[in-house]
Amino acid sequence: MKRLTSVLLALVLAAGIMAAGVIPAAAATGQLPGDWFATADEAALGFAMAYMPLTLIEGVEYGATIYRTFNWDDFRLGYTYSIPHKGDEYSVSVMPPSWLLLFPFLLVGDVHTHPRGGGDDFSEWDIVGAHIFGFVFWCYRYIYVVTPGGLVRRYDMRTRQNQIVYSGLVYRPARRAAEA
Ligand SMILES: [Zn+2]
Repeated sequence: MKRLTSVLLALVLAAGIMAAGVIPAAAATGQLPGDWFATADEAALGFAMAYMPLTLIEGVEYGATIYRTFNWDDFRLGYTYSIPHKGDEYSVSVMPPSWLLLFPFLLVGDVHTHPRGGGDDFSEWDIVGAHIFGFVFWCYRYIYVVTPGGLVRRYDMRTRQNQIVYSGLVYRPARRAAEA
């Protein structure tokens, strides 16, 4: 019995370590990369609140990948975003982290910020780039842009609909956040 218990314990431990290594465990709530969100829209909002302050202070774009994740605490599927890339005044890479390329079915899309003067809508290149990623990654569907005017917009590559999902956002430059 004691032996069975230790074998089971070892199995659980091994599974846990493997899961943590493959899919970063998502925290229950928050707004930082890896935190768990119920929807892709909410993941984009979390990114907006965490990274738009940096964008406004530094005057550069930030961009991240939105992907499916699993919350081990509640045993629920959800969404999160990757540690963002820092770009320049006009552009940012939204290349998914390399580990995600092994699991393309987890990919949902991406999100990036526009600094002051960057406009409150997607640029033509944002849309072109999205369709290229959508062509390469078969699960890629939504891109989001966070704008200096307090908007989060979502573009759906399947329906080609561009709509505002959040407006009137006020950014507080207080939170520290990581950067790739
Ligand atoms: Zn853009």
